[in-house]
Amino acid sequence: MIRTGEEYRQGLRDGREVWIDGERVADVTKHPAFKPIVDVRARIYDMAHEAPYQERLTYVADNERNTIFYKPPRETSDWTDKVEAVDAVMKDIGGVVTRVGDETIGEVWSLIDGRDVLAEYDPRFADNVDRHVASILDNDIFHVSANTDPKGDRSRAPQDQDPDMMVHVVKETDAGIVIRGAKYETAAAYADQAFLKPTVGAWTNETLSDYAVGGIVRMGAPGVKHICRSGFAGRSDPADYPLANRFDEVEAMVIFDNVLIPWEDIFFYRHTKAAQHVRGTLHRYSAFPYVQRLLYVADMMIGAAMWNARQTGLDKLQSVREKLADLVCYREGINAHLTASIAMAQKSPGGLLMPHQSMLYAGRVHACANLPAMMHIARELCGGQICVTPNAAAFNAEGSGDWLKKFYTLNDQWEAEDRRKLLAFARDLLNSDYAGHRLTFVQFAQAPHFNHLAAVYNSFDFDGPLDFVRKSAGLSDKILSDKVRGAGK
Ligand SMILES: Cc1cc2nc3c(=O)[nH]c(=O)nc-3n(C[C@H](O)[C@H](O)[C@H](O)COP(=O)(O)OP(=O)(O)OC[C@H]3O[C@@H](n4cnc5c(N)ncnc54)[C@H](O)[C@@H]3O)c2cc1C
Repeated sequence: MIRTGEEYRQGLRDGREVWIDGERVADVTKHPAFKPIVDVRARIYDMAHEAPYQERLTYVADNERNTIFYKPPRETSDWTDKVEAVDAVMKDIGGVVTRVGDETIGEVWSLIDGRDVLAEYDPRFADNVDRHVASILDNDIFHVSANTDPKGDRSRAPQDQDPDMMVHVVKETDAGIVIRGAKYETAAAYADQAFLKPTVGAWTNETLSDYAVGGIVRMGAPGVKHICRSGFAGRSDPADYPLANRFDEVEAMVIFDNVLIPWEDIFFYRHTKAAQHVRGTLHRYSAFPYVQRLLYVADMMIGAAMWNARQTGLDKLQSVREKLADLVCYREGINAHLTASIAMAQKSPGGLLMPHQSMLYAGRVHACANLPAMMHIARELCGGQICVTPNAAAFNAEGSGDWLKKFYTLNDQWEAEDRRKLLAFARDLLNSDYAGHRLTFVQFAQAPHFNHLAAVYNSFDFDGPLDFVRKSAGLSDKILSDKVRGAGK
């Protein structure tokens, strides 16, 4: 089934408890901090019904039309279809949004691969995975990710501090389990449900743990409270901050105050091994759309820098071209990792098609780690005017407007209004509060840098380089003992 934007909005009016800036939000679809991003999500739903987009955004199987985004990948074309669908969305909305569902569904596909580990503990839980994978597809559910707890003081075990610092089970009932704690979740306040799983921590040496719990939590369920960070949308004139006003994806600390998770929504419970397995494979698929977003961020930086260089004639300079080329290398580096990871895709333990793991994870490191340096280059190329240019109101006001029009007009092609718009766009992309927030988002939202590197280390096959050097250097066979081999793994 494919939902309409209006059906999605209707689903958010479920009495959910959302707070922002000390105020309880009556309707997230209408509040100024949420409306723009809810409208983007609704637009994506509506696009799937429109003739120019339907073929790219949906597919038909068993007489049912479903979204291409949620189709579990089994062949290469499943990935290239998803790439094209994301491309259609980003170009239609004219910006970049990350957490709109396709980027988080991969976490659920990882569960398909972990079915056997879950079934080992309780076959009911593996059946729950199957049913939820189907339900997300059948109901076109907007699904987000709940991993990160406040954690508290990590030098102490969870139970030695306020136990709510990490989500845990407090009661088991006939209907399900009751959980307490909190998670940071992007987009939770305007999503349907979240896949909750633990931050694996100090308790992982325990065989069974109340902290090892994972399942689906409905965002409007009793006891679920969304306490959001302040929004960027609505704070300023969209003419001055065009990205912050349209694409802010509000995060929330989602509190679970004795929330019942029904048995049919649980994937694992008091099962440390399952928790470790799920966390270890979490981004197997979802890293792909995450990294793909950065291709569009790179294009925005290249476009802003190139327009600026062209309008001032600076693109004739070799040293300016070199900086533009650095941006292009960054962009094409992302593109190459994504392309190669699909071309070299690997079969997963559950029979799905995973993007080539070490290439994908290396691409994530390339894209995330180099973003600050690339923003610096793009900022340099845009010049200091992105931080000194007055707002649109000053360009329109009597008294100041004429002076600004005089000094911001470059030639017949570039009049003051286009130059102002370009500088406002570049400021919001590279310099504003929103720009800083997005940089932090990219660096953390799919785990921090050390974790990205751990994923590369754990997915790369070191045997090739080890054998190559062993032969090339003429090393003896003594080094092949298990003890030494194991050390590199
Ligand atoms: C904008 C934004 C959006 C987010 N959205 C979501 C979301 O939708 N869902 C979700 O679950 N989470 C989300 N997060 C949370 C995010 O996943 C966490 O911020 C991240 O996992 C790091 O956890 P932390 O903030 O508790 O940092 P900490 O664990 O306190 O780590 C802070 C820093 O300490 C260092 N460090 C910590 N542990 C180690 C280690 N073992 N080895 C080496 N260095 C270490 C690293 O430098 C690390 O970056 C979001 C975060 C941000 C900033």
